[in-house]
Amino acid sequence: KESVRRVSLEPGEGLVGLVAKHAEPINLQDASRHPSFHYLKNTGEENYRSFLGVPIIHHRLVLGVLVVQHEERRRFDENEEAFLITLCAQLSSVIAHAEATGAVEGVSLSGHKISDTIFSGVSGSSGVAIGEAVVVFPHADLSQIPQRRILDVHIDNEIEFFNSCLELVRQDMRNLHAKLAGQAAEEERQLFDVYIRMLDDAVLGNEIVERIRMGYWAQGSLSYVANEHVRSFEEMENHYFSERAIDIKDLCVRILFYLQEAAVVETEYADSTILVSEEITPSMLAEVPESKLKGLISAKGSGNSHVAILARTMGIPTVMGVVDLPYTQLHGKEVIIDGYKGEVITNPSDQIRSHFLETIQEQGQLNKGLEDLKDLPCETADHYRVHLWVNTGLMTDVMRSLDQGAEGIGLFRTEVPFLLAEQFPSEEEQYQIYREQLEAFAPKLVTMRTLDIGGDKSLPYFPIEDANPFLGWRGIRVSLDHPEIFSAQIHAMLRASVGLNNLQIMLPMISNVNEVTLALQLIKKAYRELIQEEVEVKFPPVGVMIELPAAVYQTRALAKLVDFISVGSNDLTQYLLAVDRNNPRVANLYSAFHPAVLRALQQVVDGAQAEGKPVSICGEMAGDPGAAILLMAMGYDVLSMNAASLLKVKSVLRNITLEVAEKLLENVMQLEDTQLIRSMVDLALYNAGVDRLLRSSRIN
Ligand code: PEP
Ligand code: MG
Repeated sequence: KESVRRVSLEPGEGLVGLVAKHAEPINLQDASRHPSFHYLKNTGEENYRSFLGVPIIHHRLVLGVLVVQHEERRRFDENEEAFLITLCAQLSSVIAHAEATGAVEGVSLSGHKISDTIFSGVSGSSGVAIGEAVVVFPHADLSQIPQRRILDVHIDNEIEFFNSCLELVRQDMRNLHAKLAGQAAEEERQLFDVYIRMLDDAVLGNEIVERIRMGYWAQGSLSYVANEHVRSFEEMENHYFSERAIDIKDLCVRILFYLQEAAVVETEYADSTILVSEEITPSMLAEVPESKLKGLISAKGSGNSHVAILARTMGIPTVMGVVDLPYTQLHGKEVIIDGYKGEVITNPSDQIRSHFLETIQEQGQLNKGLEDLKDLPCETADHYRVHLWVNTGLMTDVMRSLDQGAEGIGLFRTEVPFLLAEQFPSEEEQYQIYREQLEAFAPKLVTMRTLDIGGDKSLPYFPIEDANPFLGWRGIRVSLDHPEIFSAQIHAMLRASVGLNNLQIMLPMISNVNEVTLALQLIKKAYRELIQEEVEVKFPPVGVMIELPAAVYQTRALAKLVDFISVGSNDLTQYLLAVDRNNPRVANLYSAFHPAVLRALQQVVDGAQAEGKPVSICGEMAGDPGAAILLMAMGYDVLSMNAASLLKVKSVLRNITLEVAEKLLENVMQLEDTQLIRSMVDLALYNAGVDRLLRSSRIN
């Protein structure tokens, strides 16, 4: 014991150091004969012969080494080795979690005070924010309840409140038990007996009360104790006991129901709120007063998840996919978000805080400078004109976009209002929403995409259960299977355009020509019906989104059928590279700068131009200053992006010539490595004198 923290080994020193250095197990029947054997006298280590050391690895990083020894000279067998490897794999996440939880509290595992702990995720929206974490959570999910603190004076009330909810559940169980008498099998009735006994047994309740006494609110205390019990029951090999984990969970969810029902806790948003959740949803975002929302942290999701896109539109620094962050412990704590790098910093020191405050100031100055560009055209230094449009979802986006000098809407995600509603909006409700968008932008064009649900956009009132949601029932596939929903939408759009005539309709997720033909038939039918009703509607231009590799190869055939082509590079990248746009574990593989993606993008332009049809891009890459240069050089007529990127892109394109851009594209197209391409583009931005923060405003 005396040698703890006094004796140490370098990586590579001794057998343990060797395991750590090579990150591989070492299994020896006689350790002392190994050249690396190194006896540390101070440790009082016992004599041994055989040695087995296994590295504990978390996310490619060696956290430690687990060692077993034996005084006999024998080799540990395969089973023993496999057992140790399994143990290390399990330990690694426990250790990492314990370290991370300690880091949030400001103490290391060995009890030292620590600050400036960095949790890595992926960038969701660039920018820096400093504020107070407000953890929000979906109801009735035990695992996501934050550990909020309560004042000492409220502890007794909280305990009383908890006990009253416990009693309500007890009552429910007794009632159910009585009701089932004579109806259900004895086994089923026994289940309620078990529950009642578990509730009467003081253990569970006492532990929760103890936790409340420590100053945590009842919901957090319940979830803490429940999760501990569930975990230990689940780990038991005995089937009977592992089944009890389900009972405890069920029982605790019932208690949680009463706690949440009785206490409709209004979330209090701090003046500088950093909203934190397991998975942030658009409706969670919508609940925070806009003036208070400074940043977002989502443990799940990635840079191209729809909520990240929404955050970019709102210009809110966001970090996604921070999988190791013990976010339930974060409530009320100060955090810094670095949306450029995709990092969250807890327990910030004065030094790091002032460093980031400087960046925030720099950001403010940059934005002020950009505002001067609002009314200037997007024209390169050698007078090549590019059109910058915006992507919208909400009415507030429209206001923001007009303010930034947008020339049109290249993508109105019509599903956004559907996502925020509690049921399908009626045709009349849709009409109101579409009319508002068209009126606000008239006479500029507004491209309305038909409903694109499925994938990561599931409507609460129309759940889609797919094993592979991104390869499943999505976009146009849902619309064509539900012509009544599709037709209502088209009717609403057409009626909304009366007298304004600035509507374009766009079809998402097209994988074959037949889908376009069918959709066009439905659009024409809706048009004829309105004409028969003597509504003075004009037939709008219709376009197709190129989002699937299949559609890239059929650009010409598709372009023949419609009036314009628009690339959805978010999905196109995900499908070309087989990288789920939502999954942070593979986020490093997701890049629109992949040579295959760039070639596909060029092929689409060539196909559309061969048919004489205009071609635009409305994926997020259009808002990446470096990517915008390449897209302009490829020949895209319109770049449609989130409003927050518009002036940044304009400033970069106004600083460059088409000639330089074309040369850059030519060079880039020779390269076969994503990183090299990115570096070459970064260098071009640097050479063009583009500001540091602008260069860091990457999309992926
Ligand atoms: C895209 O896929 O690039 C796109 C614009 O559509 P969404 O991001 O809504 O899927
Ligand atoms: Mg898409």
